[in-house]
Amino acid sequence: MKKPKAACAGCGAEQPYGQIRCDVCGEPLVFPVSLVCPRCGAESFNLNDIVEGYCGRCHQFVDDAPVKG
Ligand SMILES: [Zn+2]
Ligand SMILES: [Zn+2]
Repeated sequence: MKKPKAACAGCGAEQPYGQIRCDVCGEPLVFPVSLVCPRCGAESFNLNDIVEGYCGRCHQFVDDAPVKG
């Protein structure tokens, strides 16, 4: 499953979590409306969680989730 990423509204470049502006063109990033944790499946609508990619239930960043082979 593809993890949600912030997509730049200006140039479309994907940026890592934790940024509010695009590295490429400086436009504000558009974040998904919710963040679904790949580990526990919890869906967060907290903007801070979405921006940081953080699951409040796991108390871990979703990017830290191990990829199951
Ligand atoms: Zn951009
Ligand atoms: Zn979780």
